[in-house]
Amino acid sequence: MLAMNFRGPFQIRADRNRPEPEIKHPMDAIVRVTRSLICGSDLHLYHGLVPDTRVGMTFGHEFTGIVEAVGSEVKKLKVGDHVLVPFNIACGSCPHCKQELFGNCHEANAEATAVGGFFGYAHTGGGYDGGQAEYVRVPYADVSPTVIPEGMDPENAVLLTDVVPTGYQAAEQGGIQKGDTVVVFGAGPVGLLAARFAWFFGAGRVIVIDELEYRLEFARKFAFAEAYNFREMDDPVVFLKKATDYFGADVCIDAVGCDATGSAFQNITGKGLLLQAGNATAFHWAVNSVKKGGIVSIIGVYGPPWNLVPLGSIMNKGLTIRGNQASVKRLLPKMIDHIMSGRINPKEIITHRFPLEEIPDAYRMFSKKLDNIIKPLLIPPRANA
Ligand code: NAD
Ligand code: ZN
Repeated sequence: MLAMNFRGPFQIRADRNRPEPEIKHPMDAIVRVTRSLICGSDLHLYHGLVPDTRVGMTFGHEFTGIVEAVGSEVKKLKVGDHVLVPFNIACGSCPHCKQELFGNCHEANAEATAVGGFFGYAHTGGGYDGGQAEYVRVPYADVSPTVIPEGMDPENAVLLTDVVPTGYQAAEQGGIQKGDTVVVFGAGPVGLLAARFAWFFGAGRVIVIDELEYRLEFARKFAFAEAYNFREMDDPVVFLKKATDYFGADVCIDAVGCDATGSAFQNITGKGLLLQAGNATAFHWAVNSVKKGGIVSIIGVYGPPWNLVPLGSIMNKGLTIRGNQASVKRLLPKMIDHIMSGRINPKEIITHRFPLEEIPDAYRMFSKKLDNIIKPLLIPPRANA
C-alpha cells in the first residue's frame, strides 16, 4: 500500500510498497483511510523532538476510514461502516478509561509511565502505525471509533478525531468563568479552536498571540479574538499585563507546546542541544501573564523527559496548572452536536488538500508555514474505492 515513511528528522517519503496491516488481535479492525490530517503534533516528530521515533514508522493520528475487516471479538463495528477514529488508543476498561481519561489509558501503552497510546506517534506513544496511509490497524475497535453521523461533512468528521475536541478541552481545562479574559498562545488549528470555544464558556475577552500575521488575521475572523504579534512587542508579558490593567489574564492557554519560538535560550537548549524536551517559551509567557490565582491550561504538547519551568512564579502566584492529551471519545457527543447544529463549522480551518503521494510537500509547507497554511488534509488514492 501507499503510506508515509519516516526516514529521519525532516525526511519523509510516500512509499508504495509498504505491507498492508493485518488483524493481530481479536479486537482489531482494519480501516481503509478516506481522509487524514497532519497535526502540529506531527511536526514535533518531523523535527526530531520526540524520543524513540523510529525510521520506518508511519505517522498520522487524525483519520477517517471505511472498516474493511474486523477481528472475532469486535461486536459493534461492522465491515463497511465509515468511522472517525479518535487519536487516543484506549482499552475502554482500565481505571483511567472508566474515568473517561481516554488519553491516559493504562493498557494501550503499558510500558510508558506518562504517555498514553496514540496512532503514529513514535514508540514513545506505543509504536502504533498511523493513518497517513491507505490502511491502518485499529486496536480496541469497539471502544473509540465512531460511525460518522448521517449528513456530516467528511472534512468536519476528520477534524473531530483531534483538533475540535482538543481546542474545546483547552478552553475547558482553563475553568473559564463568565466575563473572564482568556489569552491563547498559538494561532494554529488548536489555538484557533481553543479561542473560538473560549466564548462558549462565557469568556468576556479573548486575546490570541502568535508571530504569523496570516494566522492572527484568521483568529480575528474565525475566533472573533483580538490578535497580536509577539514580534512587535518588546516583551509579550509586559504587553499582556498592560492590556489587563496590570492584573494579568484570568486564564492563559498554551496552544504551542515544545516547538515554540521566541527565546534564543530555549531554542538552543531545547531544540538545538536537546538538553530539555523542546522550547517552553509559550508556557513561560502563560505563567507570567496570568493573574495571581489564575489558571494555565497546557494543551500544547511537551514530551518526556522534562522542561525548565518557572516554578517560583507558579508557587508564589498561587497558580493552577492543568494539562492533558485531549480525551476525544469523552467529548465527541458534545462536539458532534455543536457541528450538526451549526454552532461551529471547523472545516473552515482546512486550507490545503494534498493527495497522499505529495505528503513530503505537505509536511514541508506545514513545518515552514508557507502559503498561509493552517491545516493540511491528505487524500489517499483509494479514498473512494
Ligand atoms: P501549529 O504548528 O500549526 O501551530 C503552532 C502555532 O504556535 C504557530 O502558529 C506558531 O507560529 C505559534 N507559536 C510559536 N511560538 C509561539 C510563542 N512563543 N507564542 C505564541 N505562539 C507561538 O500546531 P497546532 O496543530 O495548532 O498544534 C499546537 C500544539 O497543540 C502542538 O504542540 C500540538 O502538539 C498540540 N496538540 C495537543 C493535543 C492534545 O491533545 N493535548 C492535540 C493536538 C495537538
Ligand atoms: Zn493531532
